Amino acid sequence: MAFADRIGHLKAEGAYAVLARAQALEAQGREIIHLEIGQPDFETYPHIAQAGIGAIAAGQTKYNPPAGVPALREALAQDAARRRGVQITPEQVVIAPGTKPLLLLPMLALLQAGDEVLYPDPGFPSYEAAIGLAGAKPVPLPLLEDEGFDLDLAAFDAALGPRTRMILLNSPSNPTGGINSARTLAHVAAAARRHDLWVLSDEIYTRLVYDGEAPSIVSLPGMAERTIIADGFSKTYAMTGWRLGFGIMPQPLAEKIGLLLTHSVGCTATFTQIAGLEAVQGPQEPVEAVVAEFRRRRDLIVSGLHAIPGIHCSTPPGAFYAFPNVRAFDRSSEDLADILLEEAGVAVLPGTAFGRNGAGHLRLSYANSMENIERALGRMAQVLAKV
Ligand code: PLP
Repeated sequence: MAFADRIGHLKAEGAYAVLARAQALEAQGREIIHLEIGQPDFETYPHIAQAGIGAIAAGQTKYNPPAGVPALREALAQDAARRRGVQITPEQVVIAPGTKPLLLLPMLALLQAGDEVLYPDPGFPSYEAAIGLAGAKPVPLPLLEDEGFDLDLAAFDAALGPRTRMILLNSPSNPTGGINSARTLAHVAAAARRHDLWVLSDEIYTRLVYDGEAPSIVSLPGMAERTIIADGFSKTYAMTGWRLGFGIMPQPLAEKIGLLLTHSVGCTATFTQIAGLEAVQGPQEPVEAVVAEFRRRRDLIVSGLHAIPGIHCSTPPGAFYAFPNVRAFDRSSEDLADILLEEAGVAVLPGTAFGRNGAGHLRLSYANSMENIERALGRMAQVLAKV
């Protein structure tokens, strides 16, 4: 079958491929501990779920405006403005079914064929996919492990060129859990202003921070007019399957994204948005409790990984991933992930699922119980001792 060139670069996300193999082993009766999937292991908080159920019961099941329900756009503008210390109007907020469309659609709206986009590598696989779909050229930016996986600014300066049109940031990061420092953001912002570039800032993990905070580049001088924030409900409110994300951007761009939504998805489900309104306006204590629980798990997984000879693991300040260095084993990260799945019954992702620079690393999601994390560490230590 012949397919269009523009989808030739697409491949499955590593997490889904490993999940499928883990499930095949489970079907044979093996017990697998899942540390591969990047979604909270908690149910959607009950008050949020009830708001969605109530909305369906009340008949909120029809089309609504493509850019989102006005009440949610308003609530998000207020909430995001307060958290990031900038002014945001509801017209700058666009709602979509998930954060992913708010990565792709701004690229479709802004990039011309041949434009270059700088993006973090290792990074979320949809970045490279979306850049390619927009007909642009992905330019990977390495991270510095010794600096908490912050951007390599020398490599950033070297990668900037006459065709650079957009810079993608992700802080806290998937897969490293790292946060861009204030110094890095100031450096990137200065370059964006100097060269008149867009910054697409994926802030989906911004509420899941354990040490310090994750500042947003939008707060820096002259950046509100060239920054697109992509954020969503999946991680903060354990709502991955509801499909609810939002973007914050200059109003003229928001209007174009509204058109792209009109002609692609139509709109985001009304009852999902009503659940989202409850998430934003309702009690935030469940989020705080989950952050405290993730911090405990992070501390357990990092100290457990450190105790395994051959593994070095820095302490990630955000998200729910550990990204240990496993170079000492002299095996590819794919081989190690295979061995851990087959022999230890622990599903993890090879760092290369997040780009070439992820080589020599594994990604472990600690969105799993303390008990399972402890068992996984024990099994990993046993199997790795023989590698
Ligand atoms: N951005 C990053 C960095 C992610 O890790 C994910 C999900 O794993 C997404 C975006 C997409 O999230 P959503 O479920 O809101 O589409």
